[in-house]
Amino acid sequence: SNLLDRAAAATPLACETVATWDADGRVLAQDLIAELEVPGFDNSAMDGYAVRLSDLLHAGAEASFEVSQRVAAGAAGDAPLASGTVARIFTGAPVPPGADAVVIQEDSVVDADGRVRFTAEPRAGQNIRRAGEDVARGQAVLEAGQRLSAAHLGLAASIGAARLTVCRKPRVALLSTGDELAMPGEVAPADLPRGGVFNSNRFFLRALLQRLGCEVTDLGIVPDRLDATRQTLAQAARDHDVIVTSGGVSVGEEDHVKPAVQALGSLELWQVAIKPGKPFAYGRVRRDASAAGLDDAAHFIGLPGNPVSSYVTGLVLLRPFLLRLQGRRDIVVQALPAMARFTWDAPDPKRREFLRVRLDASGALERHAHQGSGVLTSVAWADGLVDNPAGQTIAPGDVVRFLPFSAFLD
Ligand code: AMP
Ligand code: MG
Repeated sequence: SNLLDRAAAATPLACETVATWDADGRVLAQDLIAELEVPGFDNSAMDGYAVRLSDLLHAGAEASFEVSQRVAAGAAGDAPLASGTVARIFTGAPVPPGADAVVIQEDSVVDADGRVRFTAEPRAGQNIRRAGEDVARGQAVLEAGQRLSAAHLGLAASIGAARLTVCRKPRVALLSTGDELAMPGEVAPADLPRGGVFNSNRFFLRALLQRLGCEVTDLGIVPDRLDATRQTLAQAARDHDVIVTSGGVSVGEEDHVKPAVQALGSLELWQVAIKPGKPFAYGRVRRDASAAGLDDAAHFIGLPGNPVSSYVTGLVLLRPFLLRLQGRRDIVVQALPAMARFTWDAPDPKRREFLRVRLDASGALERHAHQGSGVLTSVAWADGLVDNPAGQTIAPGDVVRFLPFSAFLD
């Protein structure tokens, strides 16, 4: 979309190298190339005996064999297997040259004289893990733009990569607008004045931003005044890549964020045809370009004040923007076809809707009864969203597009 093009066109965030040990969740900025193959040598997948099949064939089913060597994990195991003998071998140990199968110890009998017989007929190559079967030398095991998962860290370690080149974390300034907002802890629930609202957006937006790989500076609550809003935005622009605001970006005269952005830079997008989330805004806030390595403007993203709208636009619009800024490639959440067990008979005729839904035990979807943009319990209850085209009614049994919350956060 428009917003993603803007992220892609922005100056990419610089790279940095971090210890693989500390790289969980970071976005890889360069392909990671294996300088060796994995496994580095043919090795045994089991505890047992390394054998030469032709020797076993020759000697017949009842024959016993001398155990001519013992190879444990960590041994070089480079002594060839002497003809007519077998080698005691353990999981992960190199297969001696000349051996072409491993018989598991459960299929082996050790006689009183120490010789070994086999109760099953081995196949060629059985229980041998071949050199390079996991990773080939020169292979790109991880690609630029991947977010490093736990498995990725293990894979990087398996090729000996101690450091990884990743994208610098976007520095995001977060501010809440609204004279009605009170902070939990500063005001007791019983003392919340009439007209007051606890600041919920600040809590979930900070958590979302952190999970999306950002370094968050929380700038607190900005009063509903143009001068204060301008001042905070200008200050935030100085040393952040992105400014995220909540509230104050709608059409009322107490909404000062829009005019403040227009005064300090430019408002490039305003209002999107989605529900919830219409009053979404994107713009730029100018800054002194001499600040090292920064664009001459910070990105501005204005999220709606209504908590559900703020949450949904945080996932659906802000998330892909932030991921693209970090150079991430897979940023589209794939909708899963799922069966609705609910009715939606008065869809918005003009706006694409994101309904809060939950999976039932059979994998079908139930809808939260209250789809209002202020009903945060619907988000906490839900497993995800149904992405519903404008004007589309839904009846039980219909297949709809399900976007699981979990997919937005990996
Ligand atoms: P606004 O977009 O500023 O007009 O706010 C729309 C609605 O969202 C109002 O009911 C606000 O009280 C509410 N709201 C705005 N910001 C927050 C917030 N940070 N936490 C909870 N509710 C908020
Ligand atoms: Mg407001």
